[in-house]
Parts: sequence; structure tokens; C-alpha cells
Amino acid sequence: MSTLFAPDGSPLRVGTVFGIGRNYAAHAAELGNSVPDAPMIFLKAASSVVGPGAEVPLPAGAASLHHEVELVALITQPLSRATPADALAAVGGWAVGIDWTDRPLQNRLKNAGHPWAAAKSFRGASCVSGFIPTDKVPDPQAVQLRLRVNGELRQDASTALMLHNVADLLSFLSINHDLQPGDLVFTGTPEGVGPVLPGDRVEAELVGLCGATFTVCA
Ligand code: ZN
Repeated sequence: MSTLFAPDGSPLRVGTVFGIGRNYAAHAAELGNSVPDAPMIFLKAASSVVGPGAEVPLPAGAASLHHEVELVALITQPLSRATPADALAAVGGWAVGIDWTDRPLQNRLKNAGHPWAAAKSFRGASCVSGFIPTDKVPDPQAVQLRLRVNGELRQDASTALMLHNVADLLSFLSINHDLQPGDLVFTGTPEGVGPVLPGDRVEAELVGLCGATFTVCA
């Protein structure tokens, strides 16, 4: 794990990394998945989180990785059984993230009825930009996510398209999970996911707010 920093400049020790699946209808459709009624939760290892400029090594046996650009919430206040109205107050920073996925492996695991952690939690699987303070993001549902591969635009969508907004996601998570300072929540990816090969240069941004570049390596 590379050294990461909270918006106040203090070193960030990442705790639990929550991922949310199928939170944009067009993305669920592009993978042929149904849309769940309740948010779909999965976990990613804290050790999979890397910061701006990181190289992401292909997991053993993988020929490519799928990019998923996402809005990432940094939790800085404990959060338990919170209402949506209270939940956003626990967020102390925002970043753009890439929830890297070994899609063929994930599909094999899903089809076998097995957990898909191996496809989502490998070394480098959770890329984040620097974290920006919350006053820079007055409305987390009005952020434009964008991802380019070697300069080519692959994903470009507003967080307004989320099926479950961030306040609802955090409230939902906090029903049964105690969120702690240092936890990250990857809030789901919009449509446009696709494969990236070793040597590809991937730029992710919250348009006008922050961004970072990552390279996939063999
Ligand atoms: Zn994702």
C-alpha cells in the first residue's frame, strides 16, 4: 500500500474498503446483470488500495483488467445505524477511484456460486486519487466521473445516475456495519467498463475536482 493522505494532510490508514455493485442501471445492463432492490455490498482488502501514479500489476493468470471509475467516500467519523440525512456528515473527503476487476475470473466465480473477492481484491485493485475536502463537493450526486485509456474516453457519466445515492448507501451500510474513520466506500461504476492491457495509461477524474493516472503492468 502506498502512503495516502486525508484532506487535512495527515497520513491515512485505510480500514475497511466497501464496494457497491450495480449502482448504475446502464452498467448493470452492459454486463447483462439485473438491478438489485437493495444495494449490493462487497469488500476489498485494505492492502489493495494504492494512490496516484501507482502501477497496477496484472494478477497471476489474468491477461487484462476491467476499469471501473467510481466516486469514493472517505469516512472520517464513526457511523452506525445512521439515517440518510445524518450519513453524509461522516464523510470527510472524496476521491476518484478505480475498482479494478478481473472480469473473466469474476464471471467464473459467480457462475460457480463462489465469492468473487479474488477478482476484486488483488494487489493494486483499489486505486484512488488524492482526497479532496468535502466543501469542494457540495452535492455528491452532481459529480462528473471520467476515465480515459491512452487518451481515449471510455467512461463519462454523472453521479446523478446512481440508483442509490451516497447518503442512502452509507445509511444502508451502517444498519449492520460499524463504519470507522479510515474506511473507504467505492460507490459503483457507470457504464463503459472495458479491458485494459499492460502498458496502458489510465486517467481517472472527478471533473474539475481531482484526478490521477495509473499504469497497468505485467
Ligand atoms: Zn465497482
